[in-house]
Amino acid sequence: MQKSTKNIAIIGSGFGGLSAACYLAQQWHQVTVYEKNEQLGGRASVKRAEGYTRDMGPSRYLMPDLFEEFFADFGKNIHDYLDLTQLDPSYKIYYKDNPTHPMIDVSADIETNRETFESLEPGSTDKLYKYLEKSKYTYEIGMSQFATRNYDNIWDFFRRDMAIKGAQMKIFSSIQTYVKKYFASDEMQKIIQYPMVFLGSPTDKTPALYNLMTYVDFGMWVWYPQWGMWSLVQALVDLGTELWVTYRTDSEVSQIITTPAATKWRQLWKKKSKVTALQLSSWEIVQIDAIVSNADMHWTETQLLDIPDQTYNEAYRDKHVLAPSGFCMYVWLDRKIEGLEHHTLIFSEDREKGNKEIFSTKTYPTDPSYYICCPSKTDPNVAPEWGENLFFLVPFPSRIQMDDNAKQAYRDKIIADAQQVLWQQLEWHIVHEEIFWPDEFNKRYHAYGGNALSGWAHLFRQTAIFRPHNVSKKVDGLYYAWWYTNPGIWVPICIISGKLASERVELL
Ligand SMILES: Cc1cc2nc3c(=O)[nH]c(=O)nc-3n(C[C@H](O)[C@H](O)[C@H](O)COP(=O)(O)OP(=O)(O)OC[C@H]3O[C@@H](n4cnc5c(N)ncnc54)[C@H](O)[C@@H]3O)c2cc1C
Repeated sequence: MQKSTKNIAIIGSGFGGLSAACYLAQQWHQVTVYEKNEQLGGRASVKRAEGYTRDMGPSRYLMPDLFEEFFADFGKNIHDYLDLTQLDPSYKIYYKDNPTHPMIDVSADIETNRETFESLEPGSTDKLYKYLEKSKYTYEIGMSQFATRNYDNIWDFFRRDMAIKGAQMKIFSSIQTYVKKYFASDEMQKIIQYPMVFLGSPTDKTPALYNLMTYVDFGMWVWYPQWGMWSLVQALVDLGTELWVTYRTDSEVSQIITTPAATKWRQLWKKKSKVTALQLSSWEIVQIDAIVSNADMHWTETQLLDIPDQTYNEAYRDKHVLAPSGFCMYVWLDRKIEGLEHHTLIFSEDREKGNKEIFSTKTYPTDPSYYICCPSKTDPNVAPEWGENLFFLVPFPSRIQMDDNAKQAYRDKIIADAQQVLWQQLEWHIVHEEIFWPDEFNKRYHAYGGNALSGWAHLFRQTAIFRPHNVSKKVDGLYYAWWYTNPGIWVPICIISGKLASERVELL
């Protein structure tokens, strides 16, 4: 039977929205992406001036296999769209509390690290090989069996075979306990656990299944698309354009218009209403058959829908734990500096205290661990040859208020700390800088609580099937492709969420 072509609107042009648009256009639907901001890409926006180009959002190109699979789904080769470079070392680490090993380079080639790892903890290299075997298994099962499927109910998820695999993947224990079984030293534990901070939950509450991130670091190497992560946005938009997707920037959706659902639908699906149109802030009304919302979950549900149509309302929100946000500083320098690699991690003296401030007391971290990205170390396109392009990311509680003085004081503190750690003068060489903190994420992306990085924290009870579903329970024809839904956060995972949402629409 010939499938009918539908008129589908995507609200938001983050990776989830761009991916859903491509999959739906591949099925010959008429797809239009509506983006409130002046550029496409959602949190992966870019700023260019005076010979510098800076990514304002993601900077680490994680899980390269998933990007390849995405382009392969359209019969395309990713290398025709992106110029990828392998980074070696993968990253540099500074241990502020370890005068014997204040700084190490970490390569994805474990043998290259052997001497360093053995000096941090004798026997740790062989333990890492064993750990990696498990995390490879977790990654492969996780991606093939868990992350890439739609679930309708909890039994769908906890089928017997899935439950066995889930138990092998250690979804029921914490990553902290799991890592401690392998590594005794604080330094090795930090290397293995650092990605967890981006998951938005403390390590004692994050399921051990996220040990898969070690396979991403060591098993897949660390890659970088030349010109920065924004070139990945461009790649998805180029693909969508080939598939006849229409993109509209500066087009904020202000309302999703619904009508009472036909009785048949009410009886079958218990849905009260059906999507018929959307309204833009310019008052334009567009008739549509279905919507995939990629705009922040809280905004979509509470600002674009009437109360009876809301699935994930204020009550739902109040029962869930929001992940930390980020204090982001984008800094351009008029000189080259030493002591940084493309990716550099600076670990604080007291990790426990930092975790407590971010996750429990929700105050500014007083001695934070933080990340610096310096893409100009490997990409001549993003800064003049005599300059440097830096991005500082300090994990920071969401929903925090900060006046301009507090913001400036915190910025000064981080710059001073980096100068001390790197033994480099930064302050006198700053030619341009910008700070993004939680309030900024709220304004620019409608991010609930100013959340930058992770949406709902990846606690066990907010993982996989326990995340919000990608189908509205109340409104027929409304779907979601976000980091809030299953499978979760990060760019490649949001791309999967777009594919899963498109599979839902196909059933409409
Ligand atoms: C500073 C930072 C660093 C990060 N680092 C990494 C990293 O290194 N690697 C990684 O993989 N991930 C990283 N992430 C996370 C990653 O960026 C996100 O997981 C991903 O980009 C989220 O994509 P999304 O599809 O959920 O949509 P989003 O990027 O959240 O986009 C949603 C879009 O919807 C738009 N919108 C909202 N309301 C409306 C409306 N009413 N009408 C129209 N449009 C609307 C918004 O403007 C926005 O463009 C980082 C994030 C940040 C902020």
